[in-house]
Amino acid sequence: MRIARFSIDGNVAFGVVEGDARSGDGLVLDIIKGHPFAEFERSGKRIPLDKVRLLPPVLPNKVVAIGRNYAEHAAELGHEVPEVPTAFFKPSTSVIGPDDPIVYPSFSHEVHHEAELAVVIGRMCSQVPRERVADVILGYTCANDVTARDVQRVEDQWARAKGFDGSCPLGPWVVTDLDPSDLAVMCTVNGEQRQLGRTGQMVRSIEDLVVHITEAMTLLPGDVILTGTPAGVGPINVGDEVAVTIEGIGTLTNKVIKRG
Ligand code: MG
Repeated sequence: MRIARFSIDGNVAFGVVEGDARSGDGLVLDIIKGHPFAEFERSGKRIPLDKVRLLPPVLPNKVVAIGRNYAEHAAELGHEVPEVPTAFFKPSTSVIGPDDPIVYPSFSHEVHHEAELAVVIGRMCSQVPRERVADVILGYTCANDVTARDVQRVEDQWARAKGFDGSCPLGPWVVTDLDPSDLAVMCTVNGEQRQLGRTGQMVRSIEDLVVHITEAMTLLPGDVILTGTPAGVGPINVGDEVAVTIEGIGTLTNKVIKRG
């Protein structure tokens, strides 16, 4: 099931996405009564997807991101895969939705795309044992861990480099019934392929990451884990259109604009 969050006429709601974009019939949203973090009913009220504005599919309290989780990507930046996973935060204010602009930050001259599989947490959880990980996950979406690479090189903590406003595009929706173990993860800039990897290349699996993170902190419904990016990261500039596509989920597209 694909669950989107959207606004129409000033109202915000969740809806189940129906239809197959490839068939040309267009997609529709069946509006959900309530929210997807508990059992919910579909209203049967359907709206064409092209009549709404898609929002970030969740509003995370926190985004916990993992660095250097694909060996080839660690190597391209001159790093080894760390012995323990490198975790960092992206603040809630970094999150933007599908088609929202990425505003180029004033303090950087080298902003990179990082296409990543995002795990969306479905229930409050801590100290999650490996065999319970599937129970705490609502589903998966596409993410772009937008990074001010020049700033990341000179500042030990990555709060500014990876936490600026708009540095965490998420979407277009959450897919709940998906085996995430070997999905193609792709990034294009202006239609040209930059990154192509598979989640099967991750050094630490999603189970490993949920166990590792929840040893330390409670995750809340709607919190997001970014699972690292495959090789091929590179610059995005004002005017570029960057698209993250994950097999079985869809495409998250954002344009880079100049600060107004
Ligand atoms: Mg990343």
